[in-house]
Amino acid sequence: MEAVHDLSARLADDERNDIRIEAALAKLWSSELACRVADELVQVRGGRGYETAESLAARGERGVPAEQLLRDLRINRIFEGSSEIMHLLIAREAVDAHLSVAGDIIDPDTSTADKARAAARAGGFYARWLPTLVTGPGRRPGSYAEFGPLAQHLRYVERASRKLARSIFYAAGRWQGRLEQKQGFLGRMVDIGAELYAMSAVCVRAHADASGKGPLQDGSGGPGDGPGKSALLLADAFCKQSRVRVEELFDGLWRNTDAMDVRLARAVLDGAFTWVEEGVLDPSIPGPWIAPSEPGPSSMDDVHRHIT
Ligand SMILES: Cc1cc2nc3c(=O)[nH]c(=O)nc-3n(C[C@H](O)[C@H](O)[C@H](O)COP(=O)(O)OP(=O)(O)OC[C@H]3O[C@@H](n4cnc5c(N)ncnc54)[C@H](O)[C@@H]3O)c2cc1C
Repeated sequence: MEAVHDLSARLADDERNDIRIEAALAKLWSSELACRVADELVQVRGGRGYETAESLAARGERGVPAEQLLRDLRINRIFEGSSEIMHLLIAREAVDAHLSVAGDIIDPDTSTADKARAAARAGGFYARWLPTLVTGPGRRPGSYAEFGPLAQHLRYVERASRKLARSIFYAAGRWQGRLEQKQGFLGRMVDIGAELYAMSAVCVRAHADASGKGPLQDGSGGPGDGPGKSALLLADAFCKQSRVRVEELFDGLWRNTDAMDVRLARAVLDGAFTWVEEGVLDPSIPGPWIAPSEPGPSSMDDVHRHIT
C-alpha cells in the first residue's frame, strides 16, 4: 500500500503529470486492501481478534486493538469517495479519451453531419491508437532488464495493459453509449487497472529498496539500511498473487451473472421476494429510513454527535 501511495506522491511532486487516475486508484485500492488485511488479522487472532484491547488487557493479555482497526479502516470504503463512486469516477476518466473522440458518434442527439465529422476525427485517432494495442515491450523477452527478477512482472503489466485497452475498445463497440450503465464491467476494468498500477508501484519501490535508494534509506547499503534484497522477494510474491487476481478479473469481464443480477435486483425492488423475509426478526429501532434534514447552525453539531 505504501508503495502505491509513494509512487502517486512522486508523480504528483513532479508537477508535470496528470495524476487524477493514479491518485484515485491509490485511494480505492488501499481502502479495499487495508480492510481485507484487517479482517485477516481479526480472523488470525480468532476470539482475541474479536475482543477489544481493553477486554484483553483486563484479562492480563496484550491489548491488540484488532477489532477497532477493522472498524476504523472500514469507513475508508465509504467516505472520501465510496468505493462504488471511485470505480465510476476512474472508469469515466479511463474512457474519457474515447468519449471525446467518438462520443458524438454514439450520442443519439448529435446531428448526422456532426456524426460524420466525429467519425472522420475518430478514424484518425484510432488509426494511430489501435496498432499500439497489438504489441509492445511486454512481448520482448529482454525488456525492463534493469529490474532484474521483477522484469517479468513489468512485462506482464505492459501486456495486460494492452489487453485491457483492447477489452475497453471491444466493449465500447459492443455496448456503445450503454457502456456507462455496465457498472459490473467498468468495476472489473478499474480493478484490473488498480492491480496493474499496484504491481508497477511495488516493482519500482522494491527495485529502489534493493539498490539502497528507497525513500527511507541513506543509500550506504550498510547494515540497517532498509530491506535490501528481501524487498525483491516480497515484490515477486505480491506480483504473482496480483497476476492471479488480474486473470480472474479478465475472465469475469465476459463470464459473469451481471445481466441476471440486474434483473434479480429489479425484482427484489418490485417486492417479488418479500416472502423470503417472513419470520426474520428486524433488530432496528423504528423510525424513517432517512430523517428529514433541516440545515442550520446546529446541524453540524448533530452530525458529529451521531458519528462519535
Ligand atoms: C465517520 C464518518 C465521518 C464523516 N465525515 C464527513 C465529513 O467530515 N464531511 C463530509 O462532507 N461528509 C462526511 N461523512 C459523510 C460521508 O462523506 C458519506 O457517508 C459518504 O459520502 C457516502 O454517502 P452516503 O452516506 O450518503 O451514502 P449513499 O450515497 O446513500 O450511498 C450508499 C451506498 O450506495 C452506493 N452508491 C451510491 N451511489 C451509487 C452509484 N451511483 N452507483 C453505485 N453505487 C452507489 C455507495 O457507494 C454506498 O455504498 C462522514 C461519514 C462518516 C460515517
